[in-house]
Amino acid sequence: VSISPDQATAVDPALAARLPELREQYAALQARGLSLDLTRGKPSAEQLDLSEELLSLPGAGNHTSASGTDVRNYGGLAGLPELREIFAELLGVPTEQLLAQDNASLRLMYDCMVQAILFGVPGGDGPWSAAEGPITFICPVPGYDRHFAICEELGIRMVTVPMTPDGPDAEAVAALVADDPSVKGLWAVPTYANPDGSVVSEAVARRLVSMPTAAGDFRIFWDNAYAVHHLTEHETKTANAIELAAEAGNPDRVLMFASTSKVTFAGAGVSFLASSPANIAWFTEHLSFRSIGPDKVNQLRHAQFFGDAAGVRAHMAKHREILAPKFAAVVSILSERLGDTGVATWTDPDGGYFVSVDVVPGTASRVVELAGEAGIKLTPAGATFPYGQDPQDRNIRLAPSMPPLDEVRVAMDGVATCMLLAAAEKAAA
Ligand code: PLP
Repeated sequence: VSISPDQATAVDPALAARLPELREQYAALQARGLSLDLTRGKPSAEQLDLSEELLSLPGAGNHTSASGTDVRNYGGLAGLPELREIFAELLGVPTEQLLAQDNASLRLMYDCMVQAILFGVPGGDGPWSAAEGPITFICPVPGYDRHFAICEELGIRMVTVPMTPDGPDAEAVAALVADDPSVKGLWAVPTYANPDGSVVSEAVARRLVSMPTAAGDFRIFWDNAYAVHHLTEHETKTANAIELAAEAGNPDRVLMFASTSKVTFAGAGVSFLASSPANIAWFTEHLSFRSIGPDKVNQLRHAQFFGDAAGVRAHMAKHREILAPKFAAVVSILSERLGDTGVATWTDPDGGYFVSVDVVPGTASRVVELAGEAGIKLTPAGATFPYGQDPQDRNIRLAPSMPPLDEVRVAMDGVATCMLLAAAEKAAA
């Protein structure tokens, strides 16, 4: 369930009267000398412990895959078939169209982008770098800062569209791609988006994969980072964009990324790329110059650890038990402290790693500053926008996964005080 950012109300002038009281509250907060961190969506140590058994797998003498391959050796560029089968089922794609690679799906996104720039993609007219003028990617906002950073690093122009509770604003996207061939791609996080927790609806997915595009080689970077990361018992099934794109006659439009970074170990997981047969062949061909094969030992230990897709689901239920109370604490403290003040609106996500808060326009950076000075580190204001620039200075991304539950509570109470104080300062100004 998410609250539309458009519902954010204007700051109540009565808040100005609370300024002295809120200044006192803030001074008391500062006096506590806290040192808390709600910045990055990392799994907590308790979550990492759920996968501790991986450290003793596959174990000495256990180095043969189901098909008889010695995983210690070179080769097997597409990744271990038994692990690909497990994730093909979870991601709803044919195993042949899914590659399993080393840790960090971000690296696969970066590689796809670099390959497109250097060599072009199937169905295109050559390297994206050969286009006249800069190429453009559409960035739904608020979004994931590292997507934007890839574009910035590679000199790709970014244009924004708003997020909606059903994913990127599909009509705004369709309008941007219709006539401008420099628009080569769209970032999308289809399941429990970073940061607003939204899920792309079937209708939006259909629109995105079927809309006419001026660029014949348009790509959707469908970053399914949170495909299995549910916070409730309901396991949301995201629209199958690869299948829908094929049905719509645009089989090569979607590149899907995923990983076990927030399933097993964030620093030692397995990443996945799924797409059309032509895109998989394209990626693999260039990959073959870069690597003789992925870390199959890690892939074997992951396959043994999970057993099957049901094993992954059962494992994710254990993450949920740890994470759900932290998200519940964030949402309940925001409701208790800010509920009827009009100072903020926030999301109440059914999965993923973040809560997105819209504060009084013009106060997000002040809130982050106040929190920082009280020992509560928040993601910098603006991080959810290209170039770190939130035009309304109102969005803040909260990441409650890492600290223990009691620290999440203390931090959120402090953050609420900062949000109220910043709004009161604004009302009094
Ligand atoms: N994609 C999204 C939307 C994320 O939020 C994150 C991590 O926060 C990643 C990708 C990183 O994935 P990986 O660890 O597989 O590189």
